[in-house]
Amino acid sequence: MTSLQWRSSDTFLISACLLGVNCRYDGQSKSYPPLYGLIKHLRLVPVCPEQLGGLPTPRRPAEIKGGDGLAVLLGRAQVLNNQGEDVSEAFIRGAREVLKLAQTLKIRGAILKSRSPSCGLDPLGVTAAALRQAGFKVYEF
Ligand code: SF4
Repeated sequence: MTSLQWRSSDTFLISACLLGVNCRYDGQSKSYPPLYGLIKHLRLVPVCPEQLGGLPTPRRPAEIKGGDGLAVLLGRAQVLNNQGEDVSEAFIRGAREVLKLAQTLKIRGAILKSRSPSCGLDPLGVTAAALRQAGFKVYEF
């Protein structure tokens, strides 16, 4: 498990699918029970950047083409769904909404779902890039 640094009562954003919310592209979750123990110690605020960006659930799977999440934010790469449609705008909108929450709630960090074009760290997703660029700690599970 990624080593998470926290103090009691810290606020963290968390990818909602890790808490069992059925917000993934396929209408499923990616529940990760080892994280559930944190609920007793931390304030966890679930977010799904793709839903916050206005995409439906279920939705077509998407991938970043031509770079990583930071490149998408800078307009140098695109997020394309499996029909070749450019959904970059929705991904960027979702990242901005999550960043707004992070700043408003003064979060200690964000616990994000791996291998997602929004939340992943390797490769870097669009929301992970926005949070990291703003100086927030991001962890991947
Ligand atoms: S965008 Fe993030 S929170 Fe939403 S389903 Fe994908 S990995 Fe989970």
